[in-house]
Amino acid sequence: MITSAAFAGKRYAVLGLARSGAAAVDTLLASGAEVTAWDRQDIAREPFAGRCEIADPLELDLTGFDALVVSPGVPLNNHPIAVRASAYGVPIIGDIELFAQARGDLLPHKVIGVTGTNGKSTTVALVHHILSMAGVPAILGGNIGEPILAQEPLAPNDHGVGVYVLELSSYQIDLTHNLDCDAAALTNITPDHLDRYAGFAAYAAAKARLFAMQSARNLAVFGSLAEPSLAVLKAEQARRPEGRAMAANLDRFADLQHEWPTLQGPHNLENVAVAVALVEELGIKETQWRHALPRFRNLPHRMEFVCEDAGVVYINDSKATNTASTAPALAAYPPDEAGPRVHWIVGGLAKEDGLGECEVQLGNVAAAYTVGEAGPRFADLLEPLVPRVERCELVSEAVRRAQQCARPRDVVLFSPACASFDQFRDYEKRGEHFRQLVGVMAECAPEDCAPAGPYKDIAA
Ligand code: ADP
Repeated sequence: MITSAAFAGKRYAVLGLARSGAAAVDTLLASGAEVTAWDRQDIAREPFAGRCEIADPLELDLTGFDALVVSPGVPLNNHPIAVRASAYGVPIIGDIELFAQARGDLLPHKVIGVTGTNGKSTTVALVHHILSMAGVPAILGGNIGEPILAQEPLAPNDHGVGVYVLELSSYQIDLTHNLDCDAAALTNITPDHLDRYAGFAAYAAAKARLFAMQSARNLAVFGSLAEPSLAVLKAEQARRPEGRAMAANLDRFADLQHEWPTLQGPHNLENVAVAVALVEELGIKETQWRHALPRFRNLPHRMEFVCEDAGVVYINDSKATNTASTAPALAAYPPDEAGPRVHWIVGGLAKEDGLGECEVQLGNVAAAYTVGEAGPRFADLLEPLVPRVERCELVSEAVRRAQQCARPRDVVLFSPACASFDQFRDYEKRGEHFRQLVGVMAECAPEDCAPAGPYKDIAA
């Protein structure tokens, strides 16, 4: 666990005791702070009984508190705690800010931070993979894996100082004020999570703060050059020395992509270009990343190869919860001489009105199988645009029909472009359901359908 003398003798209220909140309480207590903890669920409060005061900060006199630590899941745009904390002049922070404040007590290290609407997890997993294969001590945290505060602090070794690789959602950045990443990246910004922000501009501004927090001498890398990412890049170039805010160089990698079986598609070229720029900043050489990339295992539910049966490839891309993240998956499988190859299972709980970035990729679609609450609307939109649309409602029905229709060399792509909550607890359960269905239908070996890695997101 990470601890710091910076917290000793201070008073904190912690709101939200899921994984990152629980880790924050542990860190603060072990560092000698006084903590009042709260979660609306009593089961989450139980482990802290007797260890610290348990009280709802909405009912507390917050005078004298040094900070209120809230979970990224608390919607500060309309939660009453925001008004209350500001009335008492108490700063609202998150576990990443605590990490930033603890850095002075950690052994020499570097921090890499990655944000963006899509591609964060893949990019940080790539950075972590390349560093680990090069022998550099590195741990992943933030919006992926274990909370950063719960992990053992890193020590330098012969290959370099330890690297904390952080995936940062915009909610986490909103709760962070002093994180100066040695190298930070923005993959892209497309409309998402608009329920938590006043609008798209406010969401983009939240992401931009990761770079505003950096010292001008540190590196900022940008994957997408579309607006509003381009505006952030230009603002950062204006305040940094030459070359310290840069666009990732995709051209450098185009001829190498065939070497990386799990990193296909234009979006993964972007992710690799960003990841390599970040690790090169820490001294990793081309021989080292070229050795690592062909050995990268895909994260579960992100264009995850499930199995091949009768010449048909089944891909689980359940993590694609918006059209911008499905579009590159559609783009990854161009037609062959027999015509379009993608049997696209799409639908769930819609986040947008139209087909968004998917529309320009429809030439790759042989048939669409629409599911979930948004299914009928997708079917209406797609019928004039793709050769065949099957209205299915359930994913099981869609998989069954896709399997009947697909020919050898076709791809059954489960990339819903929607949230999962109409029929599933989360995108992971939805992806596991698809894997199981495919396993049953295609009768592939159970290990072909097993989860591919230890990664798990903890917040949106
Ligand atoms: P995040 O952690 O930001 O949600 P992931 O790496 O988990 O990103 O990928 C989420 C979804 O977005 C997947 O469906 C994936 O195929 C797609 N995706 C990954 N990288 C990109 C990118 N650079 N641009 C657009 N979509 C992407």
